[in-house]
Amino acid sequence: MRWFRRHGRDLPWRRTRDPYRVIVSEFMLQQTQVARVEGFYERFLVRYPDIHALASASPAAVRESWNGLGYYRRAANLHRLAQSVVRERNGVVPSTPEELRKLPGVGRYTAGAVASFAYERPTAAVDTNVARVLRRAFHPRLDAGAAGERRLWDTAERIMPRAGRAAWVFNQGIMELGALVCTARVARCGECPVREACATGRRRR
Ligand code: SF4
Repeated sequence: MRWFRRHGRDLPWRRTRDPYRVIVSEFMLQQTQVARVEGFYERFLVRYPDIHALASASPAAVRESWNGLGYYRRAANLHRLAQSVVRERNGVVPSTPEELRKLPGVGRYTAGAVASFAYERPTAAVDTNVARVLRRAFHPRLDAGAAGERRLWDTAERIMPRAGRAAWVFNQGIMELGALVCTARVARCGECPVREACATGRRRR
């Protein structure tokens, strides 16, 4: 967490706790790199500054705003999510992972991420980067597959701070570690802040 406070990137969706803005960023970041999302994110929010503006747009206009980002199913799901929240929840994005998962296009990861990043709830959010760090740090021999995935979620939940604000930093930090230091291509254990606590890092020393 100390490492993240010093080295974490200053990304626009980390400067907000607005659930709508957090959801937009999470949908855009599914399958798209951070650098690419940054420009689109700001432009999209100028066009649709809140959930009501997005809900009342036409599907064609939303699709056009998504042009260049690809995976248009995400745009359609985000649009349906906005309409559902406005119609059924008075425009208020729910705060618990259980309720969030009832929304279109929201799976376990996105529900955990929104609960943590928008509402500062101590909920796990295991994406590809987090899974890689947890696997290398705690379960280097873990099998891929559903049982392995359950194990990683259990681990994330066990090591997470219980205070929401700290959990926000923890989730952002472990994600950032996977994006910058413990990457898919190379594990830079020599410069990693958690190597003393990491099974892979200790073995490589
Ligand atoms: S010590 Fe190495 S393997 Fe472990 S988390 Fe850090 S970079 Fe990844």
